[in-house]
Amino acid sequence: MEQTAAQWSVDRARELYKVDQWGLGYFSINEHGNICVQAASDSPHKIDLKKLIDELNKRKIHMPVLIRFMDILRDRIAQLSNAFNHAIEDNEYEGKYLPLFPIKVNQERDVVTSMLEHGKEFGLGLEAGSKAELLIVLAMTTDLKTPIVCNGYKDREFVSLVGMAHQMGKTIFPVIENYEELETFIAYYKETGIMPRLGLRIKLSTRGVGKWAKTGGDASKFGLRVPEVLRAIERLKEENLLHALNLLHFHIGSQVTKIKVVKQAIVETMRVFVEVVRLGAKLDYLDIGGGLGVDYDGSSRESHSTINYSLREYAGDIVYRVKQICQENGIPVPNLLSESGRFLAAHYSLMVTNVPAISSIRPCGLDFPKPEKGYGPVKEMFDILPTISKDNFSECYHDAVQYRSEALSLFNLGYLTLPERAYMEEVYWQIMRRVHEISRQTGIQTPEIEDLESELSDTYFANFSLFQSLPDSWAIDQLFPIMPIHRLNEEPDRLGTVVDLTCDSDGVIDQYIGEDGPRPSMMLHSINNGDHYYIGIFMIGAYQETLGELHNLFGDTHAVQIRIQGDNQYKIENLIKGDTIHQVLNYVSFNRGELLHKMRDQIEQAVDDGRLDLEESAKLMGLYEEGFYGYTYFEE
Ligand SMILES: *Cc1c(COP(=O)(O)O)cnc(C)c1O
Repeated sequence: MEQTAAQWSVDRARELYKVDQWGLGYFSINEHGNICVQAASDSPHKIDLKKLIDELNKRKIHMPVLIRFMDILRDRIAQLSNAFNHAIEDNEYEGKYLPLFPIKVNQERDVVTSMLEHGKEFGLGLEAGSKAELLIVLAMTTDLKTPIVCNGYKDREFVSLVGMAHQMGKTIFPVIENYEELETFIAYYKETGIMPRLGLRIKLSTRGVGKWAKTGGDASKFGLRVPEVLRAIERLKEENLLHALNLLHFHIGSQVTKIKVVKQAIVETMRVFVEVVRLGAKLDYLDIGGGLGVDYDGSSRESHSTINYSLREYAGDIVYRVKQICQENGIPVPNLLSESGRFLAAHYSLMVTNVPAISSIRPCGLDFPKPEKGYGPVKEMFDILPTISKDNFSECYHDAVQYRSEALSLFNLGYLTLPERAYMEEVYWQIMRRVHEISRQTGIQTPEIEDLESELSDTYFANFSLFQSLPDSWAIDQLFPIMPIHRLNEEPDRLGTVVDLTCDSDGVIDQYIGEDGPRPSMMLHSINNGDHYYIGIFMIGAYQETLGELHNLFGDTHAVQIRIQGDNQYKIENLIKGDTIHQVLNYVSFNRGELLHKMRDQIEQAVDDGRLDLEESAKLMGLYEEGFYGYTYFEE
């Protein structure tokens, strides 16, 4: 599928990068070849992302920058709630649906406050999984009706906080994650007379699918096994506290890729639910946990980065099944809660970074005379190049590999000069490129030729740290949509891989959206000297923002919060400057004063010894001091 420049169009770019698939209408390409952002697929206003970046640069907000679109958060909440509310109407379900935002997905203050603000009309609540998160959640939920669910391990202090919150009238449900916790609550009750409304997390035998499969299943970390559920009920009865048990919860893992698993989990849970009700508990709520997936690669194929169901199907299946099982057993339906963190947060933020350099194994234009082709393998290699064709390219590949290895042996034995080796390598890579090109054109691939793709691709050094901004790309090989945010009306002419600024060989993005599923490289543009080239990394709103770490002491990036107000009209609602070097040094307990002092001593010594003159010493000291206030990333 060779495309000539004449055939290139913005439509080809749409197909190549699958923007319409993963972008869900929030992201698209305009006629200028720039990425546009809008609050929802049907909202009238678009922001040209390249224009926004130019304007941020003018404000001296340089790359890399995290951009947050709160309008997208609002739309996600509405999509989720509306899907469930429609399913409730369609099935004449006599309960409510309330979304919960599990704040571990993104605890940024602006995200939590936006969720609460935009979620109010849908009854959105929050989920906390630790004491620190509980402190956030208790203070931020100022409406007593806002549901709060507490998962995670709970110590005495946690239990007391929850008890007091219940006492003050909050709608709070601590979920018992293991049997011991129940005893803590009972002990607390005996002491204080306070018992909050309890939830039980059940351990299903149904396991999730994908990277988080271990969250569910018999060996999972959390939840009560069925015998423990029965024991907990006995225990509550014994204490005359069964009335406190109001909620049943399960969570089978994040990014559940197959709807079949969701259905199984619901059925298994509802069987337990029915029995628990029969034993006398008044279960008003069913909390179906998280796991609602998003499509990161737009392929809808078998992979971790996509899902085989729609939101409508998800909501429809759940509501239908819960109702059916309740009906069959003559019990009232519960209100439904879900903790769909990834679904709510993933799309709202993206990062834009620039590419200060490219390294490549393209011919570097050797300007010394071509050496005599004296020795066998070098001569043979030269002879291959003009003869490669569709019929012999695989053979040419093998020959070239063989001659290269022979030539390298000759070089090591001292029979080949450095210029001869240089020429041999240039020709070798020309052959490899030609072989790869023909293989793409003909669609004939062998595994070794397929591997050529990443070897032949150019390395785009991007101004960011994978470990800080895209931790899951490194930790669990998650794919995120990545693409240039401008020049999409020009044909991308180079195969590239994107690497970060850290000196870690793991700081490389090794999966990209491909037309038929994930690929090891992507098409990017050549960059003229001095031109800016901007790459966007999308859908990083879930888990990435607070999971990041300080590898090589690259700190938090700048973050801007944008509200879309009209076509290319926006308001910067908040700007959080990224870490300065001073700040990241503090994290690792280096004190600026001490470092300055030590540096000054050494510079003075250098002056005394005559290694620096006074002017040089002042200049060095000035640079060093200034360094503390700089951004941790490449500055222009
Ligand atoms: C992590 C987690 C969630 C969020 O899962 P998503 O896949 O992001 O929706 C929900 N509930 C619990 C208990 C979790 O641990």
